[in-house]
Amino acid sequence: MADIFAEGFKETPYWWDLAPHDETDEQVPPSQADVVVIGSGNVGLSCALSLSRLGRKTVVLDSEEVGYGASTRNAGYLGRGLAFKYSDLVSKLGREDATKLATVAVAAHDYTAALIRDEQITCAYRDTGRFLAAPSKRSYDKLAKDLDLMLAHGVPIDAEMIPRERQHEEIASVVYHGGQLLRGNGIMHPGLYHKGLVEQVRAQGADVIGFCPVTAVDRQGAGFVVTTPKGKITAGDVFVATNGHTPKAFPWQRRRVVPASAFMIATEALSPEMMTAVMPGGRPLLENRNTPLWIRPNEDGTRILFGGTTGEENALNLKAQSLYSEMTRVAPMLDGVKLTHCWTGKVAMSFDWLPHTGTHEGIHYAMGWCATGVPMGTYLGHQTALRIVGDPASVTALDDRPFPTRPFYTGNPWFLPLAIAWLKWQDRRMMRE
Ligand SMILES: Cc1cc2nc3c(=O)[nH]c(=O)nc-3n(C[C@H](O)[C@H](O)[C@H](O)COP(=O)(O)OP(=O)(O)OC[C@H]3O[C@@H](n4cnc5c(N)ncnc54)[C@H](O)[C@@H]3O)c2cc1C
Repeated sequence: MADIFAEGFKETPYWWDLAPHDETDEQVPPSQADVVVIGSGNVGLSCALSLSRLGRKTVVLDSEEVGYGASTRNAGYLGRGLAFKYSDLVSKLGREDATKLATVAVAAHDYTAALIRDEQITCAYRDTGRFLAAPSKRSYDKLAKDLDLMLAHGVPIDAEMIPRERQHEEIASVVYHGGQLLRGNGIMHPGLYHKGLVEQVRAQGADVIGFCPVTAVDRQGAGFVVTTPKGKITAGDVFVATNGHTPKAFPWQRRRVVPASAFMIATEALSPEMMTAVMPGGRPLLENRNTPLWIRPNEDGTRILFGGTTGEENALNLKAQSLYSEMTRVAPMLDGVKLTHCWTGKVAMSFDWLPHTGTHEGIHYAMGWCATGVPMGTYLGHQTALRIVGDPASVTALDDRPFPTRPFYTGNPWFLPLAIAWLKWQDRRMMRE
């Protein structure tokens, strides 16, 4: 393979160039708080923002630097759906439950878009719509049926099918068989979004402290004692928002989420002509398959960002090469461009492919986002704040559902390579049809 790496190639997220992370944090947590939030991603921050507004003294802790997790590494897609196709949800749960869950996902998008607007978070958010690309004729037909079913069931969705003949309006590619144009979906710069949340939370008087791992949470009277190397904190409530990084200190939650790696690359700056030629609509694309690839313009439309969930833990420069091959297979026009960044992050899948929020042994949790955590996590972080203060408006259809695990699973997903191989085999079979 020709040299694909630009000078100064980095193995850190492209987003961190504009929103760098603090490498140290000397802050020490207070000895008492109303609520301790564990994890400084969007979920923990969204909860902390709402709690602070509701007058609760809140401390957000992270074991690494603030924003270490997926929230500053993701693709920045702000969607209106769950990981499940709606028709699959109906088959699994029945119409009533499926409609309620799909409606939560729409509420999550709307809440997050309103938060960005109302808090004036400068994160290059744009309501672009999304192109859900069908890798086969069968996939296209299934998407069309899915859309019909959602409309028939009154799910608030605005979408249309784009046949293969019109696909060039979205992407300079011949590998797809058309797709679904989902309106009311957006993209943003996740680093700036996270930075904006941190600033708002701190402005409300809450502490956000990095390099402060929670090693234990013990009951004390009606509340808890939270142990960290920087000191103990007594708190009335504790919220675990650690998703794909859930530590051994929370074995019940850790047994219920499956961390998986996702990878992304960024190209060097490209000419406006090239950008328009590759993605004429400027809309982010996501493939409709079990192990999808995705491609989007960056925040100012000057670069292409490309990603996938491959699972193998190769060195990042090798991963960059395999993603480059995939990117140029999808959009051959990009052959010859150079890469400036390749990075990885941890998503958390759940065994039923649904996010979960609830309270276990008095400790609140929200996780298992299945790669929908930008909107779902922001919204359900807020709903968790309402739950903590006892507001009945906190209730959503995702609360306290059975959160499945598997016998002997303790949080080490040794079976992931096998599971991914199986999902890819299903994808290949579907692509032949
Ligand atoms: C490459 C990639 C692309 C993605 N693209 C999208 C997308 O386009 N749209 C979308 O909706 N979702 C996407 N996702 C998923 C999304 O990023 C996550 O669902 C979401 O950010 C999860 O947020 P969170 O706050 O729950 O967890 P995280 O942001 O992962 O934060 C968890 C934090 O918990 C901390 N932690 C762990 N243990 C402890 C401890 N003991 N004490 C204190 N802190 C601790 C970790 O250090 C970490 O910072 C993507 C993910 C990746 C990796």
